[in-house]
Amino acid sequence: MKIVFCASEVVPFAKTGGLADVAGALPIALENQGQEVIVVMPGYKAVQNVKNIKSIRLNDKISYSIIGKNVKVYFIENDKYFNRDGLYGDKNGDHPDNLERFSYYCKEALNLLKEINFKPDMIHCHDWQSGLIPVYLKTTYSQDQFYKNIRTMFTIHNIGYQGLFSRQEFPKLGLDWSLFTMDTLEFYDKINILKGGLVFSDLITTVSATYSKEIQTKEFGFGLESILLKRRESVSGILNGLDYSVWDPATDKFIAKNYSLKTVSDKGKCKEDLQKACKLPLEKDIPLFGIVSRLAEQKGFDLLAADIDKICKLKAQLVILGTGDLKYHQLLEGMVKKYPKVISLNLKFDDCLAHKIYAGTDIFLMPSKYEPCGLGQLISLKYGTIPLVFKTGGLADTVNKDNGFIFDKYDPAELLKTIKKSIEVYKDGKKWPDLRFKAMKCDFSWAESAKKYIELYGKKAK
Ligand code: ADP
Repeated sequence: MKIVFCASEVVPFAKTGGLADVAGALPIALENQGQEVIVVMPGYKAVQNVKNIKSIRLNDKISYSIIGKNVKVYFIENDKYFNRDGLYGDKNGDHPDNLERFSYYCKEALNLLKEINFKPDMIHCHDWQSGLIPVYLKTTYSQDQFYKNIRTMFTIHNIGYQGLFSRQEFPKLGLDWSLFTMDTLEFYDKINILKGGLVFSDLITTVSATYSKEIQTKEFGFGLESILLKRRESVSGILNGLDYSVWDPATDKFIAKNYSLKTVSDKGKCKEDLQKACKLPLEKDIPLFGIVSRLAEQKGFDLLAADIDKICKLKAQLVILGTGDLKYHQLLEGMVKKYPKVISLNLKFDDCLAHKIYAGTDIFLMPSKYEPCGLGQLISLKYGTIPLVFKTGGLADTVNKDNGFIFDKYDPAELLKTIKKSIEVYKDGKKWPDLRFKAMKCDFSWAESAKKYIELYGKKAK
């Protein structure tokens, strides 16, 4: 099959979260299973800064690089839209012209296919930034023979981000006003791009089985539950895999000492290295907790904030890496001042430090309120760092009492109780190695998930 991946961030070119990991790894897993795949993404300023990867110019507005054996990643360039800092926004918030930026990207992605004469069986779109592709395909491009019979799949990586814009901006899309209705792109008098993607695509997927059910409910659907319920025959969930060529403590280039199941005691050297790097006391026998995350309420920071004082008084240490909401920056900065020997706070995006945290900590905190799939817990399992999670979405599908700690009532007291329990187990010389063994044995490689996608690409829409 010929498949086009359309995603607004792709590892190793540009990343703000898990979408980039998926869009960089799944195409290669599909290629390994005999599929012909290309990827199309915006040519951000960040892309030009990626070293060690050659880029080849196709014309004045498109260049490409190769990942895997021969997966071409095409960059849609436009100085006005993409030659700036921040993929979606900067310190002042979202870029004000995001609607124009991503509608340009969507149209140019479709134009590119014709230009390079790549007629795919399936265009696989990801998140709202590529949500207009199924819309344009079924409207603006529907009379063009080249685009006939191309099917679309839309994958929701997080339904909380929908691409909402004021109705005044609608003319910028170049679509007829008849598409601004409750059944199409209109959402409480605003434009909702994600909704357009869901309505116009042939198939809808999300990144875990549990989340695919959750988003059909009022609690998790962010207002789009009725659309998803209506299309439930076309909705399915496929768990994300993990790219073990990037995330494996046995080969990881960023960590102080490589280790595997057989040499897991070397993990201690990574702990010491992390404590040094984070200027924490070199305590090897007290548990070191880690967080690598966007600092957002979704990630459970409201629970952590509620009891952070009590958590800091436990006999433990905590390394946090992330950026996000100002209120959590401020709260955590206050805590660091109060407990400098307990917390290390790193308010930045830092891939190298992320690797060191997965390797050097003992327990990975991820009490997300909702979590479509989650990569942090999959990475930490591989590194023998025990995940502590709330039972939701992909966390519920990948963590259980045999490989981690899981609580099922979203409440600060439950989180605190579970943290205390994890500290008890950490001290248990038999239970702890057993838990770590089972965690490291888990296998979430892409091959299985890629197989499921291939099966689905061939399925008819209902
Ligand atoms: P999200 O909802 O943000 O996509 P995921 O758990 O699916 O959450 O994926 C987050 C990815 O981004 C993981 O690979 C995680 O290690 C990485 N990440 C998040 N914040 C940072 C940061 N501040 N520095 C480095 N990597 C980060």
